[in-house]
Amino acid sequence: MTEYLLKILIVGDGNVGKSSFVHRYVSGQFNKTYKMTVGVDFSVKLLHWSDKEKVRVQLWDIAGQERFISMTRLYYKGAMGCIVMFDVTNSTSFQNCHYWKQDLDNKTMLPNGRPIPCILLANKCDLSQWAVKAESIEKFCKANGFLTWMETSVKDNKNVGEAMRRLVEEALSL
Ligand code: GDP
Repeated sequence: MTEYLLKILIVGDGNVGKSSFVHRYVSGQFNKTYKMTVGVDFSVKLLHWSDKEKVRVQLWDIAGQERFISMTRLYYKGAMGCIVMFDVTNSTSFQNCHYWKQDLDNKTMLPNGRPIPCILLANKCDLSQWAVKAESIEKFCKANGFLTWMETSVKDNKNVGEAMRRLVEEALSL
């Protein structure tokens, strides 16, 4: 049995659903009052990936540091994948994905010199008042080197596991 350790980051503006995503993925729950404990850097989920492989996923949430827009290199160190998340009802949070991706690309690099794989998540898709068009997301996604984008609802548990699976798959193939 081989066990891999994967550090995955989740970045994006405040209030888009990052800590809810981590909580949902790791514990399977969604509760509105959940707040990550101050001082906790990451959550862990153990995946039984195949008969021969286990993957220990470390999911790092920037937990309230969004105002420092530019993250320290130390935070990004050793990351093998990243989620950039925005809230579909908040167009500013979508526009800021540009800065999050840029910051990430400036500070991370795989041993082969390429940027780390990154997925763009359009969260809160359960809400009807979308402020961002799907075609704008698609365009942005292609222009900025994301693997893909997906709409997610952490609330309704839509695409949370799927997005993580896609990212883990990609990270393991590197
Ligand atoms: P963070 O600041 O990015 O970590 O965001 P939080 O995880 O604290 O979530 C911000 C707010 O959005 C909370 O009130 C969540 O309950 C809510 N939220 C998170 N995900 C969803 C979702 O998929 N749909 C809806 N409707 N609300 C969500």
